[in-house]
Amino acid sequence: MIEMQDVWKVYPNGTAALNGISVKIDKGEFVYVVGPSGAGKSTFIKLMYRETRPTKGHIFVNGFNIERLKDRKVPLLRRNIGVVFQDFKLLPKLTAYENVAFALEVIGASHRQVKRRVGDALDWVGLGDKMHMLPSQLSGGEQQRVAVARSLVNNPAVIIADEPTGNLDPDTSWGIMKLFQRINERGTTIVMATHNRDIVNTMRKRVIAIEAGQIVRDESKGSYGYED
Ligand code: ADP
Ligand code: ADP
Repeated sequence: MIEMQDVWKVYPNGTAALNGISVKIDKGEFVYVVGPSGAGKSTFIKLMYRETRPTKGHIFVNGFNIERLKDRKVPLLRRNIGVVFQDFKLLPKLTAYENVAFALEVIGASHRQVKRRVGDALDWVGLGDKMHMLPSQLSGGEQQRVAVARSLVNNPAVIIADEPTGNLDPDTSWGIMKLFQRINERGTTIVMATHNRDIVNTMRKRVIAIEAGQIVRDESKGSYGYED
């Protein structure tokens, strides 16, 4: 599903963010990516949806060869990968419904089909009754639920999340994690960077630890392993 072969990333200012990463993630896995701030977790995640390109090495995601992918094909990749961010990244002038509909691949879909799919996604995250609210009218946890609905509306094989609970209180974070758990149970691969120690230590999934741009630990039922 996801494979990196000896991937290096040096940013234009000379910062070496990743120094030779090799990893394989199979279909249906749930993977936490942990490590100190500045370790390279976001860079690792950004490479997967071609937000940034590797300096060296090979990356394959859901059959796409990331470093060879033409810019005009990036939207196609993004429709096959759902992405969830710490700061939600909803469009502020669009309602919850419109934010999810905007992400939906509409080619060949009728108005009725769009309405059903967007409605189903919002029902599924528990926001069916708030679909006509703007992001500013929703709590942080609700905004993240909209972002989760947006990430899954195209039924992607992979969902990638960069600290999705970083701005949420513990109870709200657990609600969001339960959504990811349910998405994973349907067979979707999940890769999530997180600093949430309690969640990682309770859920016992695969844990990949990155430090100074290298994988220092990869455990199948791992723990968080840091004190922060
Ligand atoms: P993490 O997500 O683990 O905090 P990042 O991948 O964000 O780590 O960052 C890894 C290293 O790369 C850090 O030293 C960071 O300052 C640097 N970095 C991240 N993004 C950029 C960028 N766009 N330009 C230059 N350096 C960057
Ligand atoms: P939380 O305490 O979980 O962060 P909030 O206090 O922000 O939640 O919101 C509580 C409820 O009120 C939410 O269901 C939200 O949708 C609703 N709400 C918050 N702000 C507005 C608003 N400006 N207009 C309408 N509903 C709102």
